[in-house]
Amino acid sequence: MPAFPRTPRQKARHYLVLLSLGLLYWGCGWLVQRFFAPHDPFPATIWLPTGIALAAVIRWGSRVWPALLLGALAVHTPILATPLPGALLTALGDTLGPLLGGMLIRRHCSGGLPFYRLGDVFHFLWAGVGLSALISASASMLALAWWPSPDLGDLLQQLLTGWLADAAGTLFFAPPLLFLRLQGRLGPTPARASSLEIGTITGATLLAAALLFLGLEDSHGRYSAVPYLLLIPLMWTAARASLRTAHWLAFGILLLAITGSASGTGVLHGDTAGLALLNAGMMVLSQSVTLLIMGALIAERSSAEERLLRANHSLEEKVAERTAQLAESEARQKQLVDAAPFPLALSRLSDGVITYANDRAERMFKGQLHSTLGLTVHDFYVEPGTRDEVAALLRDKGQVRDHEVRLQDIGGRVFWALISCTLVRSAGALHVITGINDISERKRLEHSLKTANEALRQHLNEIESLQSGLKEQLVRDPLTGVFNRRYLDDTLPRLMAHTLALGKPVALLMLDADHFKRINDTYGHKAGDCVLSTLGARLRDNLRSNDIVCRYGGEEFLIVLPGMSQEHAIGKAEQLCKVVRQWPIEALDHTLNVTVSIGLACSPLHAEDAESLVHAADTALYAAKTAGRDRICVAELPAGLCARHTQAAAATG
Ligand code: GH3
Ligand code: MG
Ligand code: MG
Repeated sequence: MPAFPRTPRQKARHYLVLLSLGLLYWGCGWLVQRFFAPHDPFPATIWLPTGIALAAVIRWGSRVWPALLLGALAVHTPILATPLPGALLTALGDTLGPLLGGMLIRRHCSGGLPFYRLGDVFHFLWAGVGLSALISASASMLALAWWPSPDLGDLLQQLLTGWLADAAGTLFFAPPLLFLRLQGRLGPTPARASSLEIGTITGATLLAAALLFLGLEDSHGRYSAVPYLLLIPLMWTAARASLRTAHWLAFGILLLAITGSASGTGVLHGDTAGLALLNAGMMVLSQSVTLLIMGALIAERSSAEERLLRANHSLEEKVAERTAQLAESEARQKQLVDAAPFPLALSRLSDGVITYANDRAERMFKGQLHSTLGLTVHDFYVEPGTRDEVAALLRDKGQVRDHEVRLQDIGGRVFWALISCTLVRSAGALHVITGINDISERKRLEHSLKTANEALRQHLNEIESLQSGLKEQLVRDPLTGVFNRRYLDDTLPRLMAHTLALGKPVALLMLDADHFKRINDTYGHKAGDCVLSTLGARLRDNLRSNDIVCRYGGEEFLIVLPGMSQEHAIGKAEQLCKVVRQWPIEALDHTLNVTVSIGLACSPLHAEDAESLVHAADTALYAAKTAGRDRICVAELPAGLCARHTQAAAATG
C-alpha cells in the first residue's frame, strides 16, 4: 500500500487493503465471539482483533484507522445490540488503543519493528500491549455505563478482564502477522540446526501440545503448569532454527491451547470457560514475551556480529590494500634501484645485514647479496673498524659523502672504493643506502703518478745539486778553494756600488807571495801548489765571513773587505802579513817560510769604481815589492789628496 495513493490503481489497492483489513478484523472478532463467548457481551477471552489492529498500524501506519473503526463497530454493534453509543465507544477504544500503541512503536523502534533490540521489545510491551490494551479496556468499561445497572465491581472486573483479553490477543497475533512481511532482516541464527532436527522438534512439540490441550482431561488443573514446559522447545527453535519459526510454533501451540480451552478439553480446562481462557492467556503472555525478548537478544547479537564481521572485512580489505600498496612501492623502489647507473646496496644500520643490492652491486662483488644469505656489510670491509667509523658518521650527520674505503669482493679481491651513504627510515628501522664506486684504477694511476713524481723530484734534486756544484766550480779556484777572478769581476762592481750607496767604504788588499818562483824552482811545482793551497786557507781563516778572498793571478790574491775603513784595513793587512810570516807552511816534505807583500786601496778614497780601485791596489803592491817585500803599501791618493797620502805613507812606515 503506497504512502500517498495517487493513481487510480493505487487508490483501488488502498481501499482494497482497508476493506480486507476491516473484514479480517470483523471476521476474527466474530469467530472469537461465536466460539468462545456466544452470550457474553464482554467475554473473558483472548481478543485476537487487537493483535490484527496493532500489526496493521505498525505495518501501514495510521491510515488504516477507518478499517479498524468500521471492523470494530461491525464486531461490537451486534454484540451490544443496543445502545449504539456503548458500541461506538468500545469500537473507538479498540481503534484508538492499537493506533496509539502502533504509532509509538513505529516512531521509537528501529525499523519500526519490535524485534531488533531489547529496548524495542520493551517499547512493544508497554506501548503496543500494555497501553493499547488499557485504552481498549477502559473504553469497554465505560461502555458498561449504557448497560443496565452496572456497579463498581463489575466495572473494575470488566477493566481487568478486557485488559487481559486485549493484551493476550495482541501478544498472540501481532508478532506472527508482523513476521509475515519480514524477510531475512533478523540476521542469521547463531548455530542453525538441520532441517530434520527442526522438523522433528517442531512436530514433536505440536504433537505434545495437541495431547496436552486436546487429549488430556484434567478438570482440576493439576497439570496446568505442564504446558509451560513447551517453552523449552520454543526457545530451542528460536535459537537453532529461526525466530519466525519459533513464533509460528508458538502460534500453533496457543491455537491448540485456545481451542482446547474453548472446547473444554486439555490441561488448561478449568471449572469455568473464563478460567480456561485465563490459563491460555497467561500462556500467551509468557510464550510471546519470552520469544520477543529472546528474539531481540539474538537479533542484537547477530547485529553486533554482523557489524564485527563488516568491520573485520573492511579491516582485511584495508590491510590487503595497504599490503598491495607496500608491495607495489617496494617493487617500484627495486626497479629504481636496479635502474641506477652505479652499484647500490641497502642494509640495516643496527646489524649491517644487507637487505637489497642491485645487479651492478652483485656484479661488483661477484656474487649474490640477497638478505637470505645473511651477509652483512662487515664481510666486505677490509679494515674492520671502517664500517664502525662510517656508521658513527651516519648516526652523527645522517649521510656520508665520498668516503674512501678498502673493500673486498666475495672472491677476496681487495679494491679501493668511494662510497656515499644516506640514512633512511624504512619499516620502522634505520637503513643505509650505499652507493659504491670502484676507484682501484684511479688509485693505481695516482700511485704511479706519485712514484713518478718522487723519481722526478729526486732527479731534480740531483740536477740542482749538480748545478750548484757547477756554479761553485765556475766561481771557485780549484787549487786554493777561494773565489776565482771571474767571481770577482762579477761581484766587485755590484758590491762596491751597494756599499758606497750605504755610505760605507770598501777596502782592497792585493796580496802576492814573495819570490814564489824560487819555491817552484827549488821544491817543485807541486810544492808550490801546496803553498798556494795553504796560503788560501790561511787567508780565509783570518777574515770575516763577508770578506771575499779570490785568486787573482798565479800566486796573487785579492781580498775585498766591505765596510772596512783604511785604518782597519791597514791593521788587517799587517795581521795577514804577520800570520803568513810567523807560521811556516808544510809543503810535501818541506817546511817553508813564506812572506807576502800587500798593496792596499780604499774606496771611495782612492777610487770609486772597481777597475780603478784594483789598479790602485796593484800599483801599491808593486810599490811594496819595490820597497823590499814582506810589507804593505797603501795606494797613492789621487791628485788633490796628496797631502793626506803623504801622511798615510808616513803612518805605514
Ligand atoms: P816576486 O817576489 O817579485 O813576486 O818574485 P816572484 O818569483 O814571486 O815573481 P814572478 O812573478 O816572477 O814569479 C811567479 C811565479 O809563480 C812564476 C810561476 O811559475 C809561478 N806560478 C804561477 N802560477 C803557479 C801555480 O799555479 N803553481 C805553481 N807551483 N807556480 C806558479
Ligand atoms: Mg811573487
Ligand atoms: Mg807574482
